[in-house]
Amino acid sequence: MDTPRPFAPRPERSAESDADGDDAVDISAPEPMGRHRLKVPEPEPLTAHGPARVIAVANQKGGVGKTTSTINLGAALAEYGRRVLLVDFDPQGALSVGLGVAAHELDTTIYNVLMERGVDIREVIRKTNVSGMDLLPSNIDLSAAEVQLVTEVGREQALGRAIKPVIGDYDVVLIDCQPSLGLLTINALACADHVLIPLACEFFSLRGVALLMDTIEKVQDRLNPDLTILGILATMFDPRTLHTREVRQRVEEAFGDLVFEAVINRTVKFPETTVAGEPITTWAPMSNGASAYRLLAREVIAR
Ligand code: ADP
Ligand code: MG
Repeated sequence: MDTPRPFAPRPERSAESDADGDDAVDISAPEPMGRHRLKVPEPEPLTAHGPARVIAVANQKGGVGKTTSTINLGAALAEYGRRVLLVDFDPQGALSVGLGVAAHELDTTIYNVLMERGVDIREVIRKTNVSGMDLLPSNIDLSAAEVQLVTEVGREQALGRAIKPVIGDYDVVLIDCQPSLGLLTINALACADHVLIPLACEFFSLRGVALLMDTIEKVQDRLNPDLTILGILATMFDPRTLHTREVRQRVEEAFGDLVFEAVINRTVKFPETTVAGEPITTWAPMSNGASAYRLLAREVIAR
């Protein structure tokens, strides 16, 4: 992987200076980075479902949009007729809460599926208010699993074993990782086909990615040779500030075609959706945030 090069002045792109800060970048604009910006096709409808591609949404930095991207990518994939399972793999349970589930009140969660024999994962999976999208919830109990797993045989494969029975039921499984590179995240990487890396357009974000890439390489070497990086998603993008535009340019220079065309702008609509307990695709279906996650869903299907 190339190291990021220093900043170079770039021509202004009119599409990035929209005043409301809520517009996706115009992907048909002339491309200063030399990337091929192709139209992303409408996905073909599916006639049969499964087995799922498993995608870990990971970045050890918190607050970069992992959970938000898991919910909204999942909802957009479901709109395209994909059967989606969202796996909340963070003891904070933010994914569950973001879908309106009172996670702390649940008796059975992913913790029980991971740690107890004879627990049927299908009885723990819940429907969400998005048709075609289910949730394997989590709460603070999961933090105990991380400690308990350390002494288990095959400790890195616990999540893979847990979700195996339902892989055939879904087209996509999205795992919302916790903000660390600890054993839970390793479990997610060990059972995933791909990693999707949300990256906030802030200066400090790039530093952490090298460490994440290092971890991904170790998992590829030791646990999961088939793991690939699906792509890097620029999040929290504010087209009005030079700062975030520069960071996004650096991300594109460093990671080239790995960077998704879809860019998620910083907008208050996302915190609002958390309060509403539903995805942006249903909360504000015509918003640019919803369109951006639909574009991401098309790219994920196409890649
Ligand atoms: P992570 O899972 O990486 O910790 P979250 O998805 O939980 O990150 O996002 C952190 C906070 O930022 C949440 O309050 C969320 O509502 C908010 N947020 C996420 N994406 C955006 C965005 N594009 N614009 C503004 N706020 C956002
Ligand atoms: Mg999160």
